[in-house]
Amino acid sequence: FELERLGVHESVEAVFPPAELAASLSNLPTEVAVIGDDEIPRYDAVVTLEHREAFLEVEWVHSIQAGVDRFPFDEFEDHDVILTNSTGIHDRTVGETVAGYLLMFARRLHAHVANQRERRWTRPEWDEAFTLPGSTACVVGTGTLGRGVAETLGGLGVRVTGVRRSGDPVPGFDEIDTTDRLLEAIADAEFVIVTVPLTDETHHLFDAEAFDAMRDDAYFVNVARGSVVDEPALIDALEGDALAGAALDVFEAEPLPEDSPLWGMDEVIISPHCAAYTRDYFRDIGDIVRENVDRLAAGEEFHNRVV
Ligand code: NAD
Repeated sequence: FELERLGVHESVEAVFPPAELAASLSNLPTEVAVIGDDEIPRYDAVVTLEHREAFLEVEWVHSIQAGVDRFPFDEFEDHDVILTNSTGIHDRTVGETVAGYLLMFARRLHAHVANQRERRWTRPEWDEAFTLPGSTACVVGTGTLGRGVAETLGGLGVRVTGVRRSGDPVPGFDEIDTTDRLLEAIADAEFVIVTVPLTDETHHLFDAEAFDAMRDDAYFVNVARGSVVDEPALIDALEGDALAGAALDVFEAEPLPEDSPLWGMDEVIISPHCAAYTRDYFRDIGDIVRENVDRLAAGEEFHNRVV
């Protein structure tokens, strides 16, 4: 197709100012503009966070997220709409966020911040704080996020094991297990970190049985998608002291409802689906979009094509 007009949909503003991305793409040989819902039909391609029905009328949709579970793949296919995603860029950002969660738990920093809010000079119990070397983190999903997490935690002396569908080794992981051995793979780890996409296969992959298989002094980390986890089962495990705590960036319902018991738990760290945020986010997206504009012009297959 001919790419004459490329729109930056205003929904991206949840992550960065749309005008920043539009400006960084302004040297493309195509018209680039920030657009709202009404303008979508006049554009050939759209860069977006959210899905809109009108996208079925454009040629190419680029998701600024790696996870594209919110887009209806079948309808895109029926309407010959190309869908590309933003996997490949979130290794360091999410890796550092996860390292931060682990350091908070190990060094009790979350407790200090909570105490500070109350002007309370309270030290941890003598046996609460620990250091990361010697502990094991099991990372479920060895794609961009999983590898970034492995590399960052490896640098902190954590032993990192991975779970993937094939048992093939992955750089940065000390050991790899297959997904059908998930319960065995997570059984001995002090930290279990979820980095798989949400698919039919991974929906509620972490359920009561999985939390039961984990050590009761283990921490659970989800930076993937909320529905990879059976949230009521996680809440039960936390309330029943079957887990030490959890760091959660994603939830079954977002924003996390005000009445969720997770908000009030001392050993739960909540971040509002922003594990990958960085002020350079728009630049990383710009690089992927520019590469695909070049590939389109050269008649090559799109990078990160999903549909
Ligand atoms: P990616 O495509 O690079 O990696 C995903 C990996 O998961 C691949 O290696 C794939 O083979 C593997 N996988 C798929 N199904 C699996 C299964 N059933 N069992 C085991 N492994 C399986 O994608 P990514 O960039 O690493 O992102 C992964 C997911 O993380 C995204 O789909 C998105 O939902 C989520 N994500 C969240 C944030 C955030 O802000 N919290 C940011 C980026 C991505």
